[in-house]
Amino acid sequence: MNPERSFQPPEYLEINDPKQRELLEFVRTVDLGEVASLLQSRISTEKNAEIDLVPPERIFSKYVSGRVGRYILRPREIDFSLEDALRLAERLGVDEKFLKTHYLIHEQIHAASDTGCSDETLLTRSFQVGSAKTTQIKGIGLTISGLCRLWDEGITEKLSREVFASYAVKTGMAKQKEIDDYFTTIKKHTGQKRDCYSSEVKLVDAFIGRIAEETSLDPETIWNSLVDSFLTGTQFDDQEICKFAKEVLPENFLEDLKAASSHSTVERLTRELHRGKTNSFKSSSFIRKMRRMAEDYLESMGRTVS
Ligand SMILES: [Zn+2]
Repeated sequence: MNPERSFQPPEYLEINDPKQRELLEFVRTVDLGEVASLLQSRISTEKNAEIDLVPPERIFSKYVSGRVGRYILRPREIDFSLEDALRLAERLGVDEKFLKTHYLIHEQIHAASDTGCSDETLLTRSFQVGSAKTTQIKGIGLTISGLCRLWDEGITEKLSREVFASYAVKTGMAKQKEIDDYFTTIKKHTGQKRDCYSSEVKLVDAFIGRIAEETSLDPETIWNSLVDSFLTGTQFDDQEICKFAKEVLPENFLEDLKAASSHSTVERLTRELHRGKTNSFKSSSFIRKMRRMAEDYLESMGRTVS
């Protein structure tokens, strides 16, 4: 589900391919205008930013193997496997239509948070997608993900769950109770292979909780301001996050997070985040910036955010 290397659309891709036709039929049942408007409502108006999603004709079912979806940086495309969605839905014991829509929204949020090329050298080009910086080596297509990939997945997934829940209820796809049951089941599988990034969502929640404690702002405000900056590319760059990690977080926190391949590592980091280094938290310039961001956000939303 992470933004990855760039592919050219395969030449063998034909619209008459039954797999592609089936995918297109599903994609067309999802009201992308509604998804875009739900995301747009999370951005403060003064940012003047427009949500940009991947249109149905740029969603393919050719590249994926063993995972449901992937956002591809350039050209902007989504790679989506209905077969893998069905397999995962069966394994988790959830409604297939819910899972497909939830996962498509997840990939669309990667696309929406892609704020473009952040810097370029002779050999490389970097893109900011949400909280994750991805660097491509020109001409090879090889990509190197920044320190914050799993953190970015946590934010993307937390937001996907909220957007999917609102979308399903608003469009009459499901009742709130059905959505609540769906997520209860999803969360039961935390810690298992391909568990919809539940551990990463817990990490983001722990971070928000910790910032709330240190700033006396409510967690909802902090989360909403994070989303606002996440969707508009106005948040922290890698350097700021590294500085924050040095000041406040346990030793090698970001390096461990980047290297984390098991849920137990992410869970351990979540516990460490709860403990943190309390004293330095107070004086951190990062915390001051978080507070300012949240206050600006509240101001610009006219204090109507719940
Ligand atoms: Zn993802």
